[in-house]
Amino acid sequence: RAKREGRNTWRLYSSDMEFHNNRRMTLETALRESLAQGEGIEAYYQPLFERDSGRLYSAEALMRWHHPQLGQVSPGEFIPLAESAGLILQLGQRLLDQVLQQLHDWLAAGLEPVPIAINLSPRQFWQHDLIDDIRTRLEAFAIPAELISFELTESTLLDRHQQAITALEALRDLGHRVAIDDFGTGYSSLSYLQDLPITTLKIDRTFIQALTEGNRRGSEAILAAVTGLAEGLDLQVVAEGVETHEQLDALARFPVQLIQGFLFGRPANAATFTTNWLIRRA
Ligand code: C2E
Ligand code: MG
Ligand code: MG
Ligand code: MG
Repeated sequence: RAKREGRNTWRLYSSDMEFHNNRRMTLETALRESLAQGEGIEAYYQPLFERDSGRLYSAEALMRWHHPQLGQVSPGEFIPLAESAGLILQLGQRLLDQVLQQLHDWLAAGLEPVPIAINLSPRQFWQHDLIDDIRTRLEAFAIPAELISFELTESTLLDRHQQAITALEALRDLGHRVAIDDFGTGYSSLSYLQDLPITTLKIDRTFIQALTEGNRRGSEAILAAVTGLAEGLDLQVVAEGVETHEQLDALARFPVQLIQGFLFGRPANAATFTTNWLIRRA
C-alpha cells in the first residue's frame, strides 16, 4: 500500500490521460458504428425569428447523436472529435441529406418550409468538391438553393483568404445565403470581412449575455460597432443565444433583424418543430 501511495501523483496523471484517451477511442468507435448502421444521428431544428414582426424566418439544423450504450453525446464533444478523426464529411453529408429529405417532406405535405441553416466545420468547407457535392445533393432531392444556407466561423475563413472568397462566391452564385457564426469570438479584421461575399453576421451569445450581466458599457459599444458595420456592409444581423426578456430589451436599440435563443425556441426534433413552429407560424 505504502509503495503505491508514493506513486500517487504519477498514477493520477496517468489515469487522467488514460481516461481521456479511452473516452476518445470509445466515442470514435461508437461514432463509426452509428454511421455504419445509419442510426442515432438526427437533425434538430432551432427557430430564428424576425425581431420586429415576431415571424418565423428560418431555422438552424443542429446535429444530435444518441448511442445505445453511451446515450446522448453533445455536439461540443463529438463534432471536434469527428473533425479530427476524419468522420466529419460523412457526418455532415448524413445531416444534409436528412435536412433535404425533411424539406422534401414538408413540401410534399403542402407546408411552406422556412430556409434551414447548415453548420460547416473547417474540413467540410475546405473539401475539394464542396460545391459539386452540395449541388448534387440538392438536385437529388429537388430542393431550391434558397432553402439551404450555411454557417461558418471566422477561424474557418481566416487562412487562404482568396480561396475562401472563391468558395463563398460559388455558394452565393448557387443561391445560398452564408452567415459568419459566433461572430466576435475570432480574430478576423474588419477589412477582411469587407471582401467576403457573405450575407449574415451571427453575433456570438457571449456578447448578448454581457449586455445584462457582464461589462454592460463595453458590450454595448461592441454591439453598436458590429451592427453599424453590418448595416454599412448590407449584412443581416442575428443575435444568438437570447435567453431573457432583459437581453431582448437591451438589444432594442441596435439594428438587429433576427433573434435566435432559448427565450423563443429551443432546438427541437423535426416533428416538434413542425407542430410548434412551422404549422403555427404567424
Ligand atoms: P452553433 O452553430 O453556434 O450553434 C448554436 C448553439 O447554441 C447550439 O448548441 C444551440 O443549442 C445553442 N443555443 C441556442 N440558443 C441558445 C440559448 O439561448 N442559450 C444557450 N446557452 N445556448 C443556446 P449545440 O446544438 O450544442 O451545438 C454546439 C455547436 O456544435 C454548434 O454551435 C456548432 O458549432 C456545432 N454543430 C452542431 N451541429 C452541427 C453540424 O451539423 N455540423 C457541424 N459542423 N457543426 C455542428
Ligand atoms: Mg451555427
Ligand atoms: Mg453560433
Ligand atoms: Mg457556437
